[in-house]
Amino acid sequence: MSTPRPSPEAAAPAEHASNFIRQIIESDLAAGKHASRRWSGSPAPGPVHATGTADPASIRTRFPPEPNGYLHFGHAKSICLNFGLARDYGGACHMRFDDTNPAREEQEYVDSIRDAVSWLGFSWQTGGASNLYYASDYFETLYQFAEVLIGAGLAYVDSQNADAMRASRGTLTEPGRDSPYRSRTAEENLDLFRRMRAGEFADGSQVLRLRIDMASPNINLRDPAIYRIRRAHHHRTGDAWCIYPLYDYTHCISDALENITHSICTLEFEDHRPLYEWILERLVELGQLLRPLPRQIEFARLNLTYVVLSKRKLIQLVEERHVSGWDDPRMPTLAGARRRGYTAAGFRLFTERIGVSRADSWIDFSVLEDCMREDLNTEAMRRVAVLDPIRLVIDNFALGQVELCQAPNHPQKPELGTRDIALTGELWIERDDFNEQPPKGFFRLAPGTEVRLRYAYIVRCTGVDRDQAGQVTTIHCTYDPTTRSGTPGAEARKVKGNIHWLSTRHAVPIEVRTYDRLFDVQHPGAGDTDFLLDLNADSARTTTAFGEAALAQANPEDRFQFERLGYYVADRIDHGPSKAVFNRTVSLRDTRPARSDQGPKSNS
Ligand code: ATP
Ligand code: MG
Repeated sequence: MSTPRPSPEAAAPAEHASNFIRQIIESDLAAGKHASRRWSGSPAPGPVHATGTADPASIRTRFPPEPNGYLHFGHAKSICLNFGLARDYGGACHMRFDDTNPAREEQEYVDSIRDAVSWLGFSWQTGGASNLYYASDYFETLYQFAEVLIGAGLAYVDSQNADAMRASRGTLTEPGRDSPYRSRTAEENLDLFRRMRAGEFADGSQVLRLRIDMASPNINLRDPAIYRIRRAHHHRTGDAWCIYPLYDYTHCISDALENITHSICTLEFEDHRPLYEWILERLVELGQLLRPLPRQIEFARLNLTYVVLSKRKLIQLVEERHVSGWDDPRMPTLAGARRRGYTAAGFRLFTERIGVSRADSWIDFSVLEDCMREDLNTEAMRRVAVLDPIRLVIDNFALGQVELCQAPNHPQKPELGTRDIALTGELWIERDDFNEQPPKGFFRLAPGTEVRLRYAYIVRCTGVDRDQAGQVTTIHCTYDPTTRSGTPGAEARKVKGNIHWLSTRHAVPIEVRTYDRLFDVQHPGAGDTDFLLDLNADSARTTTAFGEAALAQANPEDRFQFERLGYYVADRIDHGPSKAVFNRTVSLRDTRPARSDQGPKSNS
């Protein structure tokens, strides 16, 4: 799988609305808040940065996924936001793998995340520097900082077991109780911590905790654990460590080492912000970091109807084989979206359109689909395919005669030219473009009525052939040679219907995979029900259809509008010279009834 090179113009700033994060950045820039920062060329403690030159990046943001799954649509919002801000303000956005939890992380996930960010059109290369980082590269620095905190009496080794620690943490209304080990001396703690690192203690038998305040109303400040013992193989550091730093400790320090100015995260971290600031402030006082410190800013995560955006649930879908894999075109992963034919520009447009706020809300899935349609409408070449074919014979069209009809590749972009579609006396048309007993308002083909064969002639239906069961097998018609599209006077005769068709001799067989939403309810699993019960039983259908000859030349990932039907993409895995395979990305328009959305019901 090759990583597409992001094209700079592809991710060029769209017209964007301001938001509270942009306002913070603009006021910081106007005040010169970050102008004094120095940068040593790579992440480092403050005194090392101090020896560097003025930081060339006006701001630094970061995208910090944990490599324990594939990225989903929610991550796309975070990526577009962080990389987009860096781009717009002359800054840099770091790609940082937050890989401090050895058990759940894998190289496969690292690779898929790198692919997904590049595919979205963003790059962690800025001004010749590659800002690709791994929190695991900071293990030694994080360890040294912990020793400094211990030396200052700000951290201690707790030898209580997990149950005892939990029992003494207190509740939202009750303060916690001090651990009996809280008053260990710095010497004793340092000795114990070094022995933790050396592997002298069993997993889970000791933890290193910050000494903050067991009575704090914010539970995150009640002496949080920052190191635990865990003998597990790490995907990058192997067996070098048997102690691993925890998230709250790692994250803020990683930001500071990387000179991050604006550390943007989702709202559930708001209660962690005091801890983020406590740790960094102490490390400034202890001479390990310099001001200005990174500032944590929270925004509302993306909640999208009809999908699940939780790694745990996505892993379950894959492992229990409800889908074919992480890149199943129905998966709300970026790998799935790409295979489905969704576009990077569509995601960027979506991010702009939904905006950034601090208020949680639900976005209807149709908003995302509309953004994809909008982008595909401007970008996708038009092609003809007949998905559910029935034979149409033009009885007065000379046997063996072939006429080439010119069809524009894109109706709004004449510069994209035209292609020829062969017309003969025997065609495929869509079964539902014919109706023997047409209801009122049916303007397509019916006995005795006329339609235009798009880019060709007007035909009149003269009769049908049937099989023994009475089913229509062939429709007969005659054409009017004076009505060829694009010839003088052709448009003089008005018909209401305009249908697509393919010559049976020239059409090529194609496999079409018609995808629909993976879940058929707005909030799968709402009210603590099993989200798997909400799977849409009819979300993937594979059929054999016909396409115009030009489709045989399509390359994997080429996207088309199949006229009158929808947007389709040549499957990036299965499409090839021996078999043409197209996935339906999205229908031409949303035919679902409009709905209002109040968010998930608390129980249902
Ligand atoms: P988990 O915590 O279950 O592992 P996660 O979705 O939070 O999963 P991370 O790898 O921690 O995954 O996320 C990386 C970044 O993406 C974080 O900064 C996170 O805030 C952001 N992010 C995750 N989900 C969303 C979402 N739904 N909307 C916006 N940003 C998101
Ligand atoms: Mg997370």
